[in-house]
Amino acid sequence: MKRTTLFCHAPLARLAVGASLTLAALGCVAAPVSAFAEPATEPAPAAETRTLNGWATDPATGEDRYFIGGEIANCVFVTDPDTNERYWFENGLFVREHAFFDAATNEWYWADADGTIAHGKDVFIPKDESDRDAGGKWVRIDDDYTMVKGEDCRYGGWYYFDDITGEMLKGFVFVPSNGGKWVFYDYITGQMAHGERYIDDAHGDEPGWMHFDGVTGAVTYGWMDVATDDGTKTVYYDEVTGRMVYGWRDIDGMTCLFDRVTGEAVIRQKVEWVGTEKYTPGRDGNDWERLVIHTTLIDTIEGVDEVFADTNGRSASAHYCVDGTEIHQYVRLEDTAWGVGNWNWNTRTVSIEHVGTRENPATYETLDTSAKLMASLAHQKGWTKLVMGENVDVHSSFTATECPFELDVDWLVERANHYLALGQ
Ligand SMILES: [Zn+2]
Repeated sequence: MKRTTLFCHAPLARLAVGASLTLAALGCVAAPVSAFAEPATEPAPAAETRTLNGWATDPATGEDRYFIGGEIANCVFVTDPDTNERYWFENGLFVREHAFFDAATNEWYWADADGTIAHGKDVFIPKDESDRDAGGKWVRIDDDYTMVKGEDCRYGGWYYFDDITGEMLKGFVFVPSNGGKWVFYDYITGQMAHGERYIDDAHGDEPGWMHFDGVTGAVTYGWMDVATDDGTKTVYYDEVTGRMVYGWRDIDGMTCLFDRVTGEAVIRQKVEWVGTEKYTPGRDGNDWERLVIHTTLIDTIEGVDEVFADTNGRSASAHYCVDGTEIHQYVRLEDTAWGVGNWNWNTRTVSIEHVGTRENPATYETLDTSAKLMASLAHQKGWTKLVMGENVDVHSSFTATECPFELDVDWLVERANHYLALGQ
C-alpha cells in the first residue's frame, strides 16, 4: 500500500483550497486543478490530478478530505514528516480511538484519540468503541506498530499476551517456558508475580498465600523457607493448589502441624516403627480414650527397644517411647500395649514412655518431642485440650507405682496444649 510522507502537523492544518486550488499551493507545478472543478467543462490531465496531496474541500460534498495523488485517502497509512507519527485514513479522514485491520500488513492497529497510530505502548481496545465501559482488552503495541504476542519482558516485569488475540492475560496462566509452569499475572497491572503474594477470591481464585519463584515466577509447591520480620519460617505450599497450608497434615511420612495463623511448621515429626511381640491385638472392644505418661528408668531408647524385644523378660510394653527428638513405636494404636498394669485400662489407653531415670528425668527436649506426639494424638481424637485425669494421665493413677517419677508432667501437658492450640 502506498504511503506518502506529505502531511501536516496534527491537528492537521487544512490547506485553504477550493475549486480554484492550484498545484502551486501544494508545492507542485502550477496548473489548474480540476479534480474539484466542473469536470464536464475543463477536464484536467489525469497525470496532474494524481499529484494532488493534502487536505482539500471535496466539491462533491463540501467537506474536507485528505487526498493522495488526487484520490481521497482511503484505507491508507499517512506519515507526518515532521513528527514521524502515522495516521490511518478512511474515506479521506483519519480515524481516532479506533481499531482497524490493514490487509496489506495483515495486522490489527489502534488509532489513539489524537489519531496517531499507537506504537511502543499498552492500549485499551474496547469491545464497543462507542462505550468504553462495556469492557475490552489491553494489548501491547510494539515499536513496529504490531501487537505483541506471547511472553514479553518490559516496564520492569514479565507479561503475557494471548498468542492469537494479543490480549494481556491476567490471573493464573500456564506458560510453556521453563518446561511449562503456572504463573500469576496481576489482575490490575498484568505483571507477573514473584515471591510471596496473597491471592484473594475477588476473581474466583482459591484464596491463600502463595509463593512464586523469584526468577521464573513459577508457583512454588512444597517446603519453603520464607523470610519473616525476625528471621525465617518454614512453610508448606500445597502440592496441588500451591496455597500455604495450616493445621495438621501428613507429609512425606511425617506428622506436621502448621501454625493456624502464620503457616509456620511447628511440628515435623517422624515416628520410627520398632514393634514388639508383647502386646494384645485389638482392644477388647474398647478404644483408647486417655494418654498415659511413663518414665522408662532405662537411660537409652536402645535399651528400651531391647527390653520390649525380650520375650523372656517382663511382660510389659508401651505404644511409644520418646528420647530427645526420637520417637519409637512398638504397638499400633488399635492394639493393646501392656502398659499400665490394669487390663481394663490397658485396653483404653495409649502408653508413652520417656527415657529418663529418677536422678535424670526426661529432658525438656524429650518432653517437647512428646508434647508434639501427644498433641497429634489428641488431634486424631478431635480433642481440643488435654486435661489431666480426663484424657491424659500418669501411670501411677492406675496401679501402685511411682511412675513417671520426677518427670515434669505439668510442663509436658501444658506444652502439648500449646501445640494443640496452634492448630485450631
Ligand atoms: Zn510407667
